[in-house]
Amino acid sequence: MALNGLSGAWSPSSWRNKPIVQSVTYNDAGSFKQATSKLNTLPPLVTPREIVKLKNELREVALGNAFLLQGGDCAELFDYCNQDMIEAKVKLLLQMSLVLVYGAKKKVVRVARMAGQYAKPRSSPMETIDGVTMPSFRGDILNSYEPDPAAREPDPKRLVDAYFHSAATQNYLRAALSSGLADLHAPLDWSLGHVRDPSVRDQYQVMVERITDTLEMMRTIGLDTGGGLETVDLFTSHEGLLLDYEQSLTRLFKHPSNTPAPTLPSTSATANAQAKARKTSLPTQLPPPLPPTQGYYDTSAHFIWIGDRTRQLTHSHVEFFRGIENPIGVKVGPSMPPSDLVPLLNILNPGYEIGKIVLITRYGHDKIGTHLPAHIRAVQASPHRDTVVWQCDPMHGNGRNATVTLPSAKSDSDGTAKPETTTIKTRRFSDILSELRQALQIHRSMHSYLGGVHLELTGEAVTECVGGAEGLTEEDLSLNYTTFCDPRLNEKQALELAFLVAGFYRE
Ligand code: PEP
Ligand code: MN
Repeated sequence: MALNGLSGAWSPSSWRNKPIVQSVTYNDAGSFKQATSKLNTLPPLVTPREIVKLKNELREVALGNAFLLQGGDCAELFDYCNQDMIEAKVKLLLQMSLVLVYGAKKKVVRVARMAGQYAKPRSSPMETIDGVTMPSFRGDILNSYEPDPAAREPDPKRLVDAYFHSAATQNYLRAALSSGLADLHAPLDWSLGHVRDPSVRDQYQVMVERITDTLEMMRTIGLDTGGGLETVDLFTSHEGLLLDYEQSLTRLFKHPSNTPAPTLPSTSATANAQAKARKTSLPTQLPPPLPPTQGYYDTSAHFIWIGDRTRQLTHSHVEFFRGIENPIGVKVGPSMPPSDLVPLLNILNPGYEIGKIVLITRYGHDKIGTHLPAHIRAVQASPHRDTVVWQCDPMHGNGRNATVTLPSAKSDSDGTAKPETTTIKTRRFSDILSELRQALQIHRSMHSYLGGVHLELTGEAVTECVGGAEGLTEEDLSLNYTTFCDPRLNEKQALELAFLVAGFYRE
C-alpha cells in the first residue's frame, strides 16, 4: 500500500512543503481559490473500482501475461474535445491493439493519453514570437497558445475548464464504447479507407479476417456468451504535472472489493531494501496510519505519470505521487542515474505492489544501448525486480529540428504571400522504430519483459513525423503540421508501427 509508515506524513497537499520545478504562479489569488474550491466539490472523473481494475491489468503486464498500449496527443487541446477527433483516436487505438493482440498473442491493455492531457512541462518558461517575448504555452489547463503576452498568463479558470473538457471527453468515450464503437463482433465495419498504402491495408485485412474467424468460431461453439466482445476497456491517462489540479481531485475512499490483498514483503532482500528506503525516504515524521481499508485515489484519470523533468527524489511531484493508490508511470531518460532508480521505486512503491509502477523509458535511438541495460540491472538487483512494467516511449528521445518553408500570413506590397523559413520539431519514423526494436532486444537478452509502448499519435492525417510507408519528407511537413507541442505519428504511421511491433513479437 502507498502509506505503510516507511515515509513521513503524507496528505494530498503535503507536496506544497517541498521544492518544485515547473511551478505555476497565479497572479489572481481570489480566482485561484474559487477555481480550486469548485474543483474540490465536483464529482470524481473516474472511480476507485476502475482504477483498481487497471492496476490489476497492469499486474498481468508486469508478470508478462499482457501488453500495454498507451497513446495520444502530446498536448491535448480543449478544441480536441469533439466527436470526430475522439472517435478517430479511439478507432486507431483499437485497430492498433487488435494488431498487437495478434502479434504478441497476449491480451492488450489500452490506455489513452486523453481526457486530461492538458498540462505541459517546458524547457524554457519564455519564448520570443515575431520579436515579442512572452511566457511559453504550457497547455490549455494553464494558459492560451494564442501568441499574446496577456493570453499567455496562467489563468485559474482554466483549471475548471480542464475538468469539464475532461468530463465531456470521458463521457463520450464511455457512451461511444458502450454503444458499439468497439464491438468486436463487427470488426469489418471499421473503416479501412484511411489506410491508403495497399500493402498495409492488405496486411491489416488479413489480420482482421483472422480475428473475425476466431470470433465467429467462438460464437459457433458458444464461448462468447459471457459477454466482453461487445466493447473493450479504454483507460485514461495524463502527465500529473499540475499538482493544484491533481490535489483537488484526490479523494479518500474505501478500497473497492476488487482490490487484491497487499503483497507482503517476504525475503531478506526485501527487508534490506526497506531499511535502505527508510534512510532515503523523504520526510521525518511518521503519519497517523490510515485504516488499511481506505486510500487516496486521484480521480482525475485512471493512470497518471511523472515527467522526466519532475522526478527529483525530494521534490513535490514524487511527494504527491507516493501517496495515491493509482497505478503510476515514471518517465526515465538518459539523465536518470541508475543509482536513483531503486530509491525512487522504494518511495513510490514501498509495498512492492506488482504492476503499480510503469517505467516509461525514453532515451533516443542512439542512447538506449548505453542507458537501458544499467537501468534494468539496477531494478533486477532489487526487490522491485518482478513488480515493474517496462514500457518503451520511443518518441521523446528522438526529437530533431527541421527547417521548413511555410506560407506566411505576411504579404508583399503587391499582395502575394511571402514564404517564411522556420524551424519546427519533427521525429523520424526510422528512429522511433529503431528505439523500439532495441528496447525489445535488450529486454529479451536480459531476461526482462518489455511490457508496452507509449506513443504520441493522432487519428488525423497530420504531417509531423517524417518517414513511414507513405514516405513523408521534411518538405511535406508544412502540409498539415498542427501540433502545439511535440510531433505525433499520424494514423498510418501509428498503425504501421503496430504491424512492425507485432512482427517483432512473432520473430
Ligand atoms: C511527454 O510525454 O509529452 C513528455 C513531456 O515527456 P517527457 O517527460 O518524457 O519529456
Ligand atoms: Mn510530448
